[in-house]
Amino acid sequence: MRFDILTLFPEMFERTLGESIIGRAKDKGIFEINYTNIRDFAGNKHNRVDDYPYGGGAGMVMQAEPVYSAWESITKQLDYKPKTIYLSPQGKTFRQSTAKRLAKEKHIILICGHYEGLDQRVIDEIVDEEISIGDFVLTGGELAAMAVVDATARLLPGVLSSEESFSEESHFAGLLEYPQYTRPAVWHGEQVPETLQSGDHKKIAEWKRKMSIYITFKKRRGMLNKAKLTEKEKKFVEELRDNL
Ligand code: SAM
Repeated sequence: MRFDILTLFPEMFERTLGESIIGRAKDKGIFEINYTNIRDFAGNKHNRVDDYPYGGGAGMVMQAEPVYSAWESITKQLDYKPKTIYLSPQGKTFRQSTAKRLAKEKHIILICGHYEGLDQRVIDEIVDEEISIGDFVLTGGELAAMAVVDATARLLPGVLSSEESFSEESHFAGLLEYPQYTRPAVWHGEQVPETLQSGDHKKIAEWKRKMSIYITFKKRRGMLNKAKLTEKEKKFVEELRDNL
């Protein structure tokens, strides 16, 4: 898979996406990521890429042409159409299901806005999808693009050690994950649940599933409406409703 990031601040990415699991996956060639500095396509001697908004209003707007030229510098070399995403607080909220869908793409171009955002005409011309990482406004799209790349890339085959690593995780199957513990078995007088130390894989799996449902009930009850539960598990939820 290939990602291209169009940004005014490519240096913001190198450290974050160059470390740990994602950095190693990139080094192994599981995915490729390139950065294009929109300012390199400013086309004027002051390297300006923004201008005043028509109609007045606060702030500056990123001009269409530098963004378009940066995008075209990538797409004109291709014989296929990559998916172009604009990170925007006006987009659809990014979810685990979005990451799963994007992980199936061959090539994604992520455009990071700054200032008051992009001239609408370039959005209309080249963007396939707008994605928001939440109902708040960031200074720029860079942090949002990093979140999208990280969440998507870790789903690619070979990035995590086994599929289990994410298939039990929060949001993957419509539930939050069960609580996790590591050594020591007793910390500040608190014991790790006995079942987890029992070595009985069936019991452990049952415990994890039950705790997933319990945690989801306590923290994000609304998610349970969509989760696939057995009849026995539905009864358990009813009991929780009656008792908590
Ligand atoms: N004036 C814009 C509006 O009100 O919709 C906000 C522009 S914001 C200050 C600058 C840039 O940050 C945007 O162009 C976008 O790329 C990025 N951005 C801000 N909030 C974001 C969010 N919640 N999700 C994704 N990108 C965001």
